[in-house]
Amino acid sequence: MTTELLQLPQIALIYGFSPTILIIMGATALVSWLVSSTLKRRFNEYSQIPIRFTGAQIAETMLRENGINDVRVISTPGKLTDHYDPTTKTVNLSEAVYGMNSIAAAAVAAHECGHAVQHAKSYAWLAMRSKMVPAVQFASNTMSMLFIAMFFATTFFQSPVFLYAWVGLFAITTLFSIVTLPVEFDASKRALAWLEGSGVSSSMEHEKAKNALFWAAMTYVVAALGSIAMLLYYVSMLFGRRD
Ligand SMILES: [Zn+2]
Repeated sequence: MTTELLQLPQIALIYGFSPTILIIMGATALVSWLVSSTLKRRFNEYSQIPIRFTGAQIAETMLRENGINDVRVISTPGKLTDHYDPTTKTVNLSEAVYGMNSIAAAAVAAHECGHAVQHAKSYAWLAMRSKMVPAVQFASNTMSMLFIAMFFATTFFQSPVFLYAWVGLFAITTLFSIVTLPVEFDASKRALAWLEGSGVSSSMEHEKAKNALFWAAMTYVVAALGSIAMLLYYVSMLFGRRD
């Protein structure tokens, strides 16, 4: 689980808030709130279901059984801050996951190891996602700078050139949120297969692990759908201006 990448529709501030943009923003905000609060509730609930191993033990065992010996499992501060870092080859588990022996902790730990397995096996979607990171950083930074510059040169920012640039940059971040989806679903698939095969969880616990990972994946789905809706809106503005 990483921080979700959802660009604020700052452009609405220049072109005004149309009913469409308000509906897109409102619906995205509402659905992402519903999904993230369900995820938090399920995670807290499943954190109360004890199993024999801590998140760190699960992670270390899963990595070893996948023949991965060069990835470290470390504890990271915060809640739901768990992630795999391919640059440092570390599985970073939040405190609640690292030292806890619950089915929720096991599901998250195994999911992050799923990313380490993807990396080790050169899983195509993960490789593509990693390659996109610099472009996404560039796009996000440029959009932030444009947003600030907007206040100083209002006329330029109402030109079609600016709108084309903005749509292009936004499209990069949208594509990134789409490429993230197969990476996330595949990591959960690997996690659940391993948890089941290793006998770490009973069938009842396994269903809970599946459910926790489903809601975690849904946060990425909502982010991607929200981004696609915004992109379509921006594209429609481009065509609107051309007429
Ligand atoms: Zn993930």
